[in-house]
Amino acid sequence: MVEPRVRKLYEAMFALEDLREVFREAVPGSANEEEIAACIARVERILKELKESKSSSLKYITDRIELRTREEEYININPIQPGGRLTLEARKALIAYGDGYSVCDWCRDLRLDRIKRPPVDEFHEELAEFVGMDEARVVPGARRGFQAVTSSLLDKGDIALISDLGHYTEYLAVEIAGGVVREIPSGDSKIVTGDAVADTIERVRATTGKKPKLIIVEHFDYSYGNEHDVRGIGKIAKEYEIPFLYNGAYSVGMVPVNGKDIGADFVVGSGHKGMAAVAPSGILATTDEWAPLVFRRSEVTGDISGKRFEHKETELLGCTLMGATIISLMASFPRVKERVKHWSGEVQKSNYFIREFIRIAGNEIVSEYPRKHTLSRVDTRNSFDKIARTHKRRGFFLSDELKRRGIIGEFAGSTRIWKLNTYGLSWDRIRYLADAFVDIARKYELPIN
Ligand SMILES: *Cc1c(COP(=O)(O)O)cnc(C)c1O
Repeated sequence: MVEPRVRKLYEAMFALEDLREVFREAVPGSANEEEIAACIARVERILKELKESKSSSLKYITDRIELRTREEEYININPIQPGGRLTLEARKALIAYGDGYSVCDWCRDLRLDRIKRPPVDEFHEELAEFVGMDEARVVPGARRGFQAVTSSLLDKGDIALISDLGHYTEYLAVEIAGGVVREIPSGDSKIVTGDAVADTIERVRATTGKKPKLIIVEHFDYSYGNEHDVRGIGKIAKEYEIPFLYNGAYSVGMVPVNGKDIGADFVVGSGHKGMAAVAPSGILATTDEWAPLVFRRSEVTGDISGKRFEHKETELLGCTLMGATIISLMASFPRVKERVKHWSGEVQKSNYFIREFIRIAGNEIVSEYPRKHTLSRVDTRNSFDKIARTHKRRGFFLSDELKRRGIIGEFAGSTRIWKLNTYGLSWDRIRYLADAFVDIARKYELPIN
């Protein structure tokens, strides 16, 4: 299965970086020609070896940091990684903008969102439009978006509602603001509804006498990838006049999202989970109503220096993503805008895969079915786990079998309840993936329906 050319390709790319280093260290205009010629000759030799499919012994980039080849050599079904896989454009941009504060070359207004070259300013406007809101900012991960909102809206002891399927970062964002979490039950269906939110608001009122200050619910949760009734929740939030944060970690950049249609006051997305960007990155978008509060300007003054920073936005600590992160978000953005239009195709492929997967006797889908997302929770306790019980490799037998077929990213060693994500896989890859599981089942004589 191993493709020798992948490592060789890295060798060639690194040799080109060695050449780049010559220019970086030279006195302007007088780079060492001999060194350049030697570097080019090395690149040529490596390319010749690449052409001949010669294997490479290259294993590390530097001290104990291994090459990462899983996206080149395997089908990766890791639950959290597919939406953050970089586009070709992002990978190119990363080569050129990897240096620290690289997007600050032409910064004039001392504000990230006003940089015109590269067009970070226009990107911000487009971002707001992309999620159907008025104003957007980039943040270091969805979690920092939650934090900006909780820190702006919650005082000590204020109550925030989070679904019982909520992500740990939502809980921590409430905690750091001194707030109190009350959970909205997702019930047996594991789906959060507007009614459940209304009931929870009433229950909180009855038991504490307080009205919650914020509702945070994810469109698709991380455990099941189930779709929650964000529109219904948006309506209830309006009725009770409680701001609603739509958590789009598993949707923004993959699923078409219009925050205002949904009735959201805040839309948070994750760059590295859903927008084909470098971590940590994400977006926080809001309405004209809330922007002045959440994106409020600094009012602090230095008592000795008298320094003030009135143009800086406090919750963002001034600037946020100043190099590789934002350039990857921007470089991927045209493709991201395009790919959300094809979400229904992604769901179709997800359903095709799951349909094949549950043909294996004992395999069960724990997520809602038919699937509405590409992230799915499956239960293989009555199939692969039975094999694992007597196999000398235990649960690792399944990882071994998958890896042998060029598939990686399942939770290694787990044959009980686990998650996988098919986002972004072509139909050819989807069919190959489904066939691989069926093939493994056949090998161990599990019945196929
Ligand atoms: C991944 C995830 C997050 C965290 O996103 P970051 O961008 O890594 O901060 C938050 N909520 C949900 C539902 C997630 O799945």
